[in-house]
Amino acid sequence: MTLHWIGYALLIGNLTVGLIGCGNDKDHPENEFSEAAPYPGSPAHIAAIHLTDGFTPTEKDIVTHDLKFLSTIWIDHGASRKMQRVMKISDPTPLSLVHWLEERVQFMIAENISIEASTHYADHFVNQASGPRIPNHPDKPDTSPKVYTVMANVGTGIYDKSRNKKQKATVSLPGIGDVVVTSPRTGLIQVGEGYFISLLGRGHLKDVPHTMSRIGTLFHEARHSDGNGLSRGFGHAVCPSGTYAQKYACDDNLNGPYTIERLLIKGFAETCKSCKPGTIDTLKLLQVDLKSRIIRRSPGVKEWDDTPEGKR
Ligand SMILES: [Zn+2]
Repeated sequence: MTLHWIGYALLIGNLTVGLIGCGNDKDHPENEFSEAAPYPGSPAHIAAIHLTDGFTPTEKDIVTHDLKFLSTIWIDHGASRKMQRVMKISDPTPLSLVHWLEERVQFMIAENISIEASTHYADHFVNQASGPRIPNHPDKPDTSPKVYTVMANVGTGIYDKSRNKKQKATVSLPGIGDVVVTSPRTGLIQVGEGYFISLLGRGHLKDVPHTMSRIGTLFHEARHSDGNGLSRGFGHAVCPSGTYAQKYACDDNLNGPYTIERLLIKGFAETCKSCKPGTIDTLKLLQVDLKSRIIRRSPGVKEWDDTPEGKR
């Protein structure tokens, strides 16, 4: 049985989750990775992101694949003007994208590590302003799509808690050691089971659409490391309508996580001349979904201050 894609990643607070139900779509074993347009210049280095213990060899392989792929992504100037402006990068080369990510993500944490148990001086890591998680009704048969966590920027929540408590927060990461969270830009991202599941419901995890979906999510989470004061963490807003109505799965700003993620995927899709039509269609579908999460009609919607808080 193949997992059937019902909805793209749903973002709640700083948590990215995917909605997946079981279906019986036929498998598409074709590997589309080789169709990626290679960067005409030299690839960038692999992003210096440290993985904790706890990843299986297969999971490490996927993460390494994604970071290698990122080192070859380029988006031509015509497709990237807005992305460059919003991300404040001077060019759309792989090196700029890798640097942008490295400034915001330093550690990827395996799913089985309890952040709460690993964090000292902060007794709870969830950002209280993030809003509710998916409602759970244990007394009723659950007929809703299963929710998988894809990724969560846990560092932002730890920083918030540390700041509120006026206590230093230290996270003990297996395989890495103690990390003091002095800023959301300490960059602690926890990977969930959804990261290693086909949210698109077909193909291989290393196919271009899956790879770009995961990289887009990584950039989304990276944006949660930015901002200060009221904009700290670029928290999400309740969607007023549509698929995600009444869930914290939208942005009420014009330069937040969904915008970053959308512009990256949109720019790549427009640049990748050698991508197959099916790949382009899938990437367009993703970016349309992401665009729908940006609440443009609300009065006062604008770009937020992305200056990071604290020092890492
Ligand atoms: Zn988010």
